[in-house]
Amino acid sequence: MSLRFYNTLSGRVEEFHPLEPPKVRMYTCGLTVYDYAHIGNYRTFVFQDILRRHLKYRGYELLHVMNLTDVDDKTIRNSQAAGTSLRDYTDKYIKAFEVDAQLLNLEAPEIVVRATDHIAAMVKLIETLEAKGFAYRSEGSIYFRVSQFRDYGKLSKLDLEGMRAGARVDSDEYDKANVRDFVLWKAAKEGEPSWETPLGRGRPGWHIECSAMSMKYLGETFDIHSGGSDLIFPHHENEIAQSEAATGKPFVRYWLHAEHLIVNGEKMSKSLGNFFTLRDLVAKGYKPAAIRYLLASVPFRKPLNFTFDGLHQAQQSIERLRNLRYRLTMEKFPAGESSVLQDRARTAVREFEEALDDNLNTAEALAAIFNLVRDANIAMDHGEFRDGDRPVFLDALDRWDRIFAVLEDNDQAKLTKLGFIKPLAKTAGDLIPRQDEAKAAQGDGYTSAVLTEALGEAEIETRIAERNAARRRGDFASADKIRSDLLAAGVILEDTKSGTRWKRK
Ligand code: AMP
Ligand code: ZN
Repeated sequence: MSLRFYNTLSGRVEEFHPLEPPKVRMYTCGLTVYDYAHIGNYRTFVFQDILRRHLKYRGYELLHVMNLTDVDDKTIRNSQAAGTSLRDYTDKYIKAFEVDAQLLNLEAPEIVVRATDHIAAMVKLIETLEAKGFAYRSEGSIYFRVSQFRDYGKLSKLDLEGMRAGARVDSDEYDKANVRDFVLWKAAKEGEPSWETPLGRGRPGWHIECSAMSMKYLGETFDIHSGGSDLIFPHHENEIAQSEAATGKPFVRYWLHAEHLIVNGEKMSKSLGNFFTLRDLVAKGYKPAAIRYLLASVPFRKPLNFTFDGLHQAQQSIERLRNLRYRLTMEKFPAGESSVLQDRARTAVREFEEALDDNLNTAEALAAIFNLVRDANIAMDHGEFRDGDRPVFLDALDRWDRIFAVLEDNDQAKLTKLGFIKPLAKTAGDLIPRQDEAKAAQGDGYTSAVLTEALGEAEIETRIAERNAARRRGDFASADKIRSDLLAAGVILEDTKSGTRWKRK
């Protein structure tokens, strides 16, 4: 059975067949880097990550391009307010985005591009549109003549006759022949960054950035384009118009759009002020994995209501999964195998794979794995689980985690690698790493809460081994010290017949 996706262009669920299997060419609209991303943005990026991971899981080879919008009204306005150059200003938020992305286990797209590095490609595309009669000039700016492009509106299916100018259209203060027309090239304005080009001095409009960059790397027709549903109109509608008018070919074959993360019935957004950045939530003690889990838990075409209750439950759900994996690796079971149990695990794998094939139904994929977790724990508690059943169950968890990516607990290692925190001190008493004051002073946001978070799994295992060694030597003072240090770091030890187990507070 092949993969199926809801395609905004056709308005229905379609079988997915890339142009040149096993290659999949995909473009995703990335962040506008004028501030820290909020977790609404990350809902869309987590969806895109699940999409790319599942495509890979099913044997496709990805060529995935993501842009970073580093020139537009907002980046210019904020860099001016900060008194820094556009490049320096956007560099800071690109770096911040990369750190967040690593904590959220977002795989890096094969190609990440900045708009300001592609001005020449945008200019060329605008020249083609001018030559083909789809563009006109007015006061040094260049506009796309929407009435010239017959298929305008095919993605958003809006009533264009009654259409009013959208927010981004409104913000263009230039003269246009028709309210629906949109800007391709903005004439230079005093004090704003601009580029000297054959079109004159100016800067690109937002929409042309994505058309030029996507076609440059993926060709005139490619497989998948995605973003949040707020981008359907006008951004993606305009991308189609520009690209298809220039090439005369279909631009994108499958359009996938994520519904919004909402708070009390409203879209999470900077302008409404109802947002949390990843840093905000980590500072409150939530783990990036729990945030990723929450954002992935609702299928992408359904709005996701953000609550702290939901986030708390996500954290607990991850602990259940991690605890099962811990039991599977550490607990002692009687020799032998149970074919019934192994079939049960294989069925769960098939169920979550099929759920994801079906338009990335993440909710069903979660249900499949949690039913398996429940059955595995029951079998273990009843003494039915056998030593030889381990690999099949571990394989099921690993396969599931190739997509969901929440089982590893290595935030500290990642932050240490990124230079945010010092490596763990090796003395037994110094379990909690101190923050790197210099980094913290820069206001990167990943400060005390991240640093006092629970230890990584590998470190906990090492401490437990040290404690066991101390107990065997009869050095109970050291053993007790390790136990209380771990407790201070949020880890509870439990000595059982089959060894020492641990869980987080
Ligand atoms: P922007 O930085 O505004 O260009 O947005 C980056 C991505 O985040 C786009 O794909 C948006 O559609 C998406 N996005 C913005 N707000 C939300 C939200 N509340 N829920 C889901 N996606 C969002
Ligand atoms: Zn875009």
